[in-house]
Amino acid sequence: MDCLFCAIVKGDIPSTKVYEDEKILAFRDINPQAPTHVLVIPKTHIPSVDGINAENSAIVAHIFEAIPQIAKAEGLTEGYRVVSNCGDHACQSVKHLHFHVLGGKQLADSMA
Ligand code: 5GP
Ligand code: ZN
Repeated sequence: MDCLFCAIVKGDIPSTKVYEDEKILAFRDINPQAPTHVLVIPKTHIPSVDGINAENSAIVAHIFEAIPQIAKAEGLTEGYRVVSNCGDHACQSVKHLHFHVLGGKQLADSMA
């Protein structure tokens, strides 16, 4: 399967990691849209939020347990935004589940 984020998990494509454990990886977005812009992904391939189900949702809980630690390590004391684009209407460009963690400035009030 030709998946950019699976290649990052394997180490075939370099990334700037900010958190890693046996199940998940967090790394800096190559085109940051805020002073902190981190992508948090499962190491296993799930195409999008639409692919979350009872069999694989534990990894999503694990990601959301890690996000506050990542935010703390990034110094996001004033808050942050967590976003996951799913499908064409949301402009999802990489078809491997990922959560954007954005912060480090006052973010836009509008989300769409
Ligand atoms: P999406 O548009 O699917 O919600 O988010 C994909 C994100 O992946 C984009 O913010 C984009 O900048 C980021 N991205 C694309 N290619 C690479 C890459 O090779 N390395 C890193 N670190 N981020 C990437
Ligand atoms: Zn993948």
